[in-house]
Amino acid sequence: MVDRTFLDWPFFEDRHRALAAALEEWCAANLPVDHGDVDGACRGLVSALGAAGFLQHSGGEALDVRSLCLIRETLARHDGLADFAFAMQGLGMGAVSLFGSEEQREWLGRTRAGEAISAFALSEPASGSDVAQISTTAVADGDGYVLNGEKTWISNGGIADVYTVFARTGEAPGAKGLSAFLVPADTPGLEIAERLEVIAPHPLARLRFNDMRLPREALIGTAGSGFRIAMSVLDVFRSTVGAAALGFARRALDESLARTGSRQLFGAPLNDLQMVQGHLADMALGVDASALLVYRAAWTKDMGAPRVSREAAMAKLHATETAQQVIDAAVQLHGGDGVRHGHIVESLYREIRALRIYEGASDVQKVVIARQVMGA
Ligand SMILES: Cc1cc2nc3c(=O)[nH]c(=O)nc-3n(C[C@H](O)[C@H](O)[C@H](O)COP(=O)(O)OP(=O)(O)OC[C@H]3O[C@@H](n4cnc5c(N)ncnc54)[C@H](O)[C@@H]3O)c2cc1C
Repeated sequence: MVDRTFLDWPFFEDRHRALAAALEEWCAANLPVDHGDVDGACRGLVSALGAAGFLQHSGGEALDVRSLCLIRETLARHDGLADFAFAMQGLGMGAVSLFGSEEQREWLGRTRAGEAISAFALSEPASGSDVAQISTTAVADGDGYVLNGEKTWISNGGIADVYTVFARTGEAPGAKGLSAFLVPADTPGLEIAERLEVIAPHPLARLRFNDMRLPREALIGTAGSGFRIAMSVLDVFRSTVGAAALGFARRALDESLARTGSRQLFGAPLNDLQMVQGHLADMALGVDASALLVYRAAWTKDMGAPRVSREAAMAKLHATETAQQVIDAAVQLHGGDGVRHGHIVESLYREIRALRIYEGASDVQKVVIARQVMGA
């Protein structure tokens, strides 16, 4: 039985509780989907989430971080790919939601309806954690820009209809010389250089931009503000990565409670053993602590805090690291079944790993927290 008592916490309003109940009902009827054709599954999920109205929460001028987190937590608990499909609609259009022009916002209508798929292209082969080193260039030329370079690890790469791309425009050295661009996938010059496969499959690619001509209107915000835009987007979405991890961890705990309550060993249910109860207690404690940090960060942002770097970093760091431990304990409690291909805890074990790396690796979150507490 899923623990839903957290919905009574003061972080939430009635509209959040209603949203969580409606989504729970939708998930029970529609998830999990077959992941055999991962591109097709993602397209189908975006379309279905759009038709059901849940993608309305993924973008727009007033991003409600508590809604984003509740949706990601709930979807992740039912199907990691459904969480991915929802999350990327938000992250891919995050820069447009926060800084886009009226014309660029027309894309939001399509991504929120599930009629277009979006992607966020920041990382490069030589600059993942070190964003300031981006080497993709957008050179001003006539009434626009010419884009050249390479991006990698781009989620939805290959199936996206529109990409937010960060490139060096050179107003200043390092982080102050970057800009963000909105790039429709059918713009001549975009090459899907390689499709990448990872332990929990989802659409992922390395992209190449070959002399791609972009109109001036493709620029999101102002020239030179790309780093600030990227960090503002991550400030919203980092807590939601924690929320997805929380969903995975909750599922692992639920599966473990069911398993240890029904599995008979030594003449009694497995959960009669105190050492097993110790595991369950540690898991429940980790889940609740993560939930408190995730929804504290989301609430703080929703209450109007301009930046939540410390809160979001704590939420992501704690929730992703703890989920890894909770899921590992779940695998242990399931015995041999826990490592069988296709078992839910085996898939959770694969799903959680990348969350400790992307949108700022755990080590980077520690640096952010330390800087914040030191006042640096
Ligand atoms: C499944 C998946 C999906 C992704 N989706 C996207 C996407 O949609 N868009 C996008 O732009 N990117 C995406 N990424 C890229 C992701 O953000 C990068 O992988 C991440 O930022 C790390 O960069 P890197 O892989 O180059 O590792 P590196 O930057 O080489 O870092 C390697 C390791 O070094 C350590 N490290 C790095 N910096 C520090 C530091 N300051 N202090 C201490 N230790 C440090 C960490 O342990 C880190 O994991 C995705 C990655 C994965 C795995």
